[in-house]
Amino acid sequence: MTYLAALLILTALALCARWTWWRKEIPGLRVLCYHKIGRPPAGSQLEDLWVSPRKFRVQVQYLLDHGYTTLLFSDLLKAFRENSPLPEKCVLITFDDGYENNYLEAWPILNELGAKGNIFVVFNTIGKANLWHDPASEAWVNMATPDQLREMQSSGVIEYGSHTMSHPHLSALSLDDAAWEMAESKRQLETVLGSVLCAFAYPYGDGAYSPEIRAKALEAGYTFDFSFRHGKTPWPWDRPGSPIDRIFIRGSDTIWDLALQLSRGFSRL
Ligand SMILES: [Zn+2]
Repeated sequence: MTYLAALLILTALALCARWTWWRKEIPGLRVLCYHKIGRPPAGSQLEDLWVSPRKFRVQVQYLLDHGYTTLLFSDLLKAFRENSPLPEKCVLITFDDGYENNYLEAWPILNELGAKGNIFVVFNTIGKANLWHDPASEAWVNMATPDQLREMQSSGVIEYGSHTMSHPHLSALSLDDAAWEMAESKRQLETVLGSVLCAFAYPYGDGAYSPEIRAKALEAGYTFDFSFRHGKTPWPWDRPGSPIDRIFIRGSDTIWDLALQLSRGFSRL
């Protein structure tokens, strides 16, 4: 009996660690961070960065069914400039890097369901591949082309932010080089897209909490800068207080993970 009780307690503790339903609910802007929508290539060591199209569709439908308004960066900028409140339940769906599968898989789903998304693009790899990865551990896949980026933008479903020129660890660079990665990518992307960019995401989240690097991001003209995994909640979006943290969506997440992430910021210990 004692053995059974201990087993039950251990099981309960394990479940509470895996699904942190007991955390306090928190208010604020929810920002989801996706990468690739599709099936991971054989041998991928970053499988959890791939979310299947079926799962992505279920997640977007969950947001809409639960009353979330999906925002574009321009919606956030408008609210910021006019000092007006955001919708009570709102979420920014973001994608890092600018993969072609965002165009092939994610955009049609968002379009069909009536949701919006935002993509952080690495300028130097547009129309190429994820060259910053070692192909021995993470296969190179296609990045969206300029035409694909513009087509998504014209649909009104997708907007863009910058994710640097070459996807470096910004803190490993000199401050001048880090500043150039952030400012030059804004300038180049604005030329290709014909629109002004207000948002920036730090590759690997690196540099977001370095006051010097963050100052350079704001100096480059970004109104909003995004990180992840720092765990600061609720998510403030009044600028320029701090970077906006994002909820990192993994391919292995269940719909219950998403529900907990939206209400509590995290679903796991
Ligand atoms: Zn990235």
